[in-house]
Amino acid sequence: MGLLGGGYCMSAGLLGAEESSKSDAGRLQNYRNAAEKIRPLFAKKKEPQFGDWLDQKKEPGQTFAQYLASSPNTRTAERTRLYLQPIGGFTKAEEEVLAILREFMELHFGLKVIRLATIGTERIPENARRYPAGAIAEQLHTPFLLDRLLIPNRPKDAVAVLAITASDLWPGDGWNFVFGVASLKQRVGVWSTSRFGDPEKERTRFLRRVLQVAIHETGHMFGIKHCTAYECCMNGSNSLEESDRASMVFCCECDPKLWWSCNLEPIARARALAEFAKRNSLEREAAEWAGIATALGRS
Ligand SMILES: [Zn+2]
Ligand SMILES: [Zn+2]
Repeated sequence: MGLLGGGYCMSAGLLGAEESSKSDAGRLQNYRNAAEKIRPLFAKKKEPQFGDWLDQKKEPGQTFAQYLASSPNTRTAERTRLYLQPIGGFTKAEEEVLAILREFMELHFGLKVIRLATIGTERIPENARRYPAGAIAEQLHTPFLLDRLLIPNRPKDAVAVLAITASDLWPGDGWNFVFGVASLKQRVGVWSTSRFGDPEKERTRFLRRVLQVAIHETGHMFGIKHCTAYECCMNGSNSLEESDRASMVFCCECDPKLWWSCNLEPIARARALAEFAKRNSLEREAAEWAGIATALGRS
């Protein structure tokens, strides 16, 4: 069974940290106050079902305070952009979803998102590709993609580079497949849409899966570990069924990590995300972000 996030999720050692300054102290206190306003909106993480991520993995979670103490990757004066790196081709329907993804990521992280020129799969050598019996598509080897393609070509102003492919992925021996992997240390990640269903017949479901995995993996690249405290987009996931059950919204421990690392304005962002979700028929998320905006607006 493939794992969402895989072994790269837990890499240690982070780059791009900046020393806290006095002006940061006020910003931090505002974020702490805002986190308390939205805490009642989030359900504690439920007991895992058989086969779920936390049924099979013991993870400690990560509070906002622990996150700050880890000197996470953040936006800096030099690193101001997120990059999307397509690997291989996409259908017209998939391309439409990728355009929506780009808009969503700009709202979610408050950063300019640049789409890089596609890297053709012909650039991937035979020993980094396979087509095992029963596979749904050709598989690409994630260590090659991260170490040989993404890291050497990572732009200097990249907070992170997120690669996306319609090919299937595998991370190494002993794995059937992986949905995606991200490195906390190197600011690169890759994930696949190959198991997300038909983007024409079930467009909203496909879109939701794309958006959810993109912000989960990008969250890792900002140094955010899997969440074990609340029902949250940063929960680990062992299957598509489990990630479909999960929220697409970051909880009151995890969203402040992004407010901090991306220097976000929480109320305006929550309003914009609610409006985006409504416009794209994501009813559940529209209601959740609207609730967050309302709670944040209370004095
Ligand atoms: Zn993960
Ligand atoms: Zn969380």
